[in-house]
Amino acid sequence: MTHEVTVHPLVSPWGRFGLYTFFIDAPEPAIVDTGIASSPAEGMAPALEALGRRIEDVRWILLTHGHIDHIGGAHALWELTGRKARVVIHEADATLLRSRRAHVEEYLAGRGRFVDDPEGEANVTAAGNAVISGEMEPTLLVKGGETLSLGGDVTVSVHSIPGHTPGSVAYVIDGQRSVFVGDAVQVHGAANGFPGYVDPVPYRTSLEYLRDQIRPQRLYLGHPYRTADGVPYGVELDGEEAQRALQESLDIEGRVSGAAHRYLEKGVQVTDSPYSPFARVAAELGYAGDPTLEPAPFFTTMHGYLTQFTQNLLSQEKEPPLNG
Ligand SMILES: [Zn+2]
Repeated sequence: MTHEVTVHPLVSPWGRFGLYTFFIDAPEPAIVDTGIASSPAEGMAPALEALGRRIEDVRWILLTHGHIDHIGGAHALWELTGRKARVVIHEADATLLRSRRAHVEEYLAGRGRFVDDPEGEANVTAAGNAVISGEMEPTLLVKGGETLSLGGDVTVSVHSIPGHTPGSVAYVIDGQRSVFVGDAVQVHGAANGFPGYVDPVPYRTSLEYLRDQIRPQRLYLGHPYRTADGVPYGVELDGEEAQRALQESLDIEGRVSGAAHRYLEKGVQVTDSPYSPFARVAAELGYAGDPTLEPAPFFTTMHGYLTQFTQNLLSQEKEPPLNG
């Protein structure tokens, strides 16, 4: 590539979060992640206009994963491009773009099993209706390994980095190692002080892959994730900061995994703690956030360890220990 492709972070606010979208100023312009329903018209369009660019010229909508604060604006943005932009998502997360109900099913199968909130299903349903601009079929399903041409000599390669969700991907601008990972690098989590991933083993493998194989020169994160001290990283990290965020994410996963396994070996215990049945894990890790707030990843992540632990036991043909 003859010169660097410029990337502009665009932010739109949502509750306790800043939702970050990234504009890749290529011959065929791309937007990575789309915020929620209101983000394209209220956040992206004016920001692009200020850069002397037009939202209707966007030709690629690159989704890092299927969570509502990343795909919520996809349909609205696609409409603003006159339906000319190609919408890209990993096949394992595509159902979250196709169906609002899929988000409710995911909640019920995971953290919803533990959240002590009779309104939980209704709240997740209402959130999906409010912030997802439309259900749609993606233009291009990816698995990782693809290369997308953004015009001229600009190419973006797609890498599968599952863990945060099954279909999380990294998009890498080739030749300059600018890497967009959405929420796949959690450090200590964003507003909650806890990292969120559905499957701990691939989460760890994906972090190692990013650290050792991709080695970002610039790493773009979906939210300002925090360090152990609660200080937010920016969303645009240089090579050294990127290695630090990746290593810290690995260290934190190691601590959470250690606490989860020590505890699961003794058997999960139902108590009246809001963290039940994982109260001892929360206590050991000093986690004091509200696990019922949406989005709050504590139960998502614990469910991941419990599933992994149970599968390991089953493969050893033992019964999982359960105390009442
Ligand atoms: Zn996410």
